[in-house]
Amino acid sequence: MPELAAYAVGPANSRGRRIREEAPSGRSEFQRDRDRIIHSTAFRRLEYKTQVFVNHEGDLFRTRLTHSLEVAQIGRSIGRNLGLNEDLVEAISLAHDLGHTPFGHAGQDALAECMKGHGGFEHNLQSLRVVDVLEQRYAAFDGLNLCYETREGILKHCARSNARLLGDLGERFLHDRRPSLEAQLANLADEIAYNNHDVDDGLRSGLITLEQLAEVKVFARLLDEVKQRYPQVSGRRLVHETVRRMIGTLVIDLTQQTRENIREHRPRSVEAVREAPALASFSPRITAEQTQLKQFLRRHLYQHYRVQRMSTKSKRIVKELFDAFTGDLKLLPPQFQESAKIDPWRATADYIAGMTDRYAIREHRRLYAVEETPI
Ligand code: MG
Repeated sequence: MPELAAYAVGPANSRGRRIREEAPSGRSEFQRDRDRIIHSTAFRRLEYKTQVFVNHEGDLFRTRLTHSLEVAQIGRSIGRNLGLNEDLVEAISLAHDLGHTPFGHAGQDALAECMKGHGGFEHNLQSLRVVDVLEQRYAAFDGLNLCYETREGILKHCARSNARLLGDLGERFLHDRRPSLEAQLANLADEIAYNNHDVDDGLRSGLITLEQLAEVKVFARLLDEVKQRYPQVSGRRLVHETVRRMIGTLVIDLTQQTRENIREHRPRSVEAVREAPALASFSPRITAEQTQLKQFLRRHLYQHYRVQRMSTKSKRIVKELFDAFTGDLKLLPPQFQESAKIDPWRATADYIAGMTDRYAIREHRRLYAVEETPI
């Protein structure tokens, strides 16, 4: 592994695991975290969970799994250049969406609505719940028993009321402190990944067009650059050549601006990073351009009537699943009946949040369809 900067999370300054374990041999603690994440059930389910387009809408759109891989790729490149712990960036990136419900944000909004008054539902907190509690594969503990720094990175946001229940992990939300630079970076790599792949998937789906995208400054500039250099190129190649330049521009900007921030604040340890203002950031110019791109995507893609129709259907499915189970807990599979005795709403939310898109659709059919369907 390349040498780590003083402000990186290293083996010597990790706060360790909740339950002590023997040190791994032949790999670092954070590589072990990454390996546990990859071998988890929740990770495999990401393949069939919506990013923007519901899984069955097409084979080439991003899913939560390919999104997470892109986040890890972007995060690792930048992390390595900044002397950060690449293994930790990778582990956080691969785990950051483990708690996502089926059907993307529509599913999450519907479940949050159902859980109002029953403890709420936040996908970041659910990702943490997956790695702390819900994965049941190890003999000595529930969850994956990940290192503090990996868990800190997974918990990107959290309401203050929930932060109070989380002990040391929740403290930064109450005292306005930052997580490690590795976590800050994974968070921005997430943003780079989704802004760009949503442009790519949006164009592929035909819901947005290159002509419309001309109103987005950064896209127009880079599209022009490609056209100048390769006048004969069109179609998917033209899109990819532009999108790869967008990713490159953001990666370079984030690296340079973060380097500058580090030079200014001179953090000498992870603790100093946590006390400092957010050190991982884009330059003001790129931040403004990203905001314009996000607004464009919201208006033209996320609020497109065809995406909205799918969202509305998805919300209905999640709500009706929730109503069916909480109305009659005997409908829950046996492995959720025990926890339902303690908290029927949380058990139901855990069950639904774990579903893939297609599983949720099938389960809904099994519970509601009147025609003959196999049990
Ligand atoms: Mg994400």
